[in-house]
Amino acid sequence: MIQFTHVFKRYPGGFDALRNINVKIERGEMAFITGHSGAGKSTLLKLITAIERPSRGEAVVNGRNLLRMPRRRIPYFRREVGVVFQDHKLLFDRTVYDNVALPLIVTGADQHEIPRRVRAALEKVGLLSKEKMYPVTLSGGEQQRVGIARAVVNKPPLLLADEPTGNLDAALSDEILDLFLDFHHHGVTVLIATHDWRLINRARKRVLELNHAELVRDTGAAA
Ligand code: ADP
Repeated sequence: MIQFTHVFKRYPGGFDALRNINVKIERGEMAFITGHSGAGKSTLLKLITAIERPSRGEAVVNGRNLLRMPRRRIPYFRREVGVVFQDHKLLFDRTVYDNVALPLIVTGADQHEIPRRVRAALEKVGLLSKEKMYPVTLSGGEQQRVGIARAVVNKPPLLLADEPTGNLDAALSDEILDLFLDFHHHGVTVLIATHDWRLINRARKRVLELNHAELVRDTGAAA
């Protein structure tokens, strides 16, 4: 699903955010990316979502070569990748339903399909009863679950999350982790960037650790 071979990312100004990254994540795998602040975790996610391009090396995600992908292909590529953010980035002037429907509307999904798919996503995260509410009336954990429903409504084969539990207490973080584990058990490839070792230890999945732009540990690498 993800294969990086000798990938480097240098930002304008000459700063190396990633150096010589070699990693292969199979379809259906679940893994965590950890490391200190500034280690390169977000940069790695930005390469995988084609927000940034690698400076060097070969990066293939879901069968597409990120260095060679024409700019016009990027919106199509992004439909195959769901992203969950720490601050969930919900629209506060839209209802829960409208927030989750947004990716379907943007990608021109069949009008008749939209209600069914929105409700299926809300049901997965346990928020079907709150579809008419506005995000501001929900708890932090519920807002994050709306963010997850929005990320999966297009049924992407790959789900990424950047510090998804950064603003949540332990009990709510566990609920969010359980949702990610559930998607993983249903065959979705899941990649979560986090500082939260409690969460990582609880999940018992592969761990990739970055340190100053280098991959210094990979508990799942092939021998
Ligand atoms: P992490 O997510 O592990 O905190 P990041 O990937 O956000 O790390 O950042 C890695 C390094 O790259 C940091 O030193 C950061 O300042 C730098 N960086 C991130 N984005 C940019 C950018 N757009 N331009 C220049 N430097 C950047």
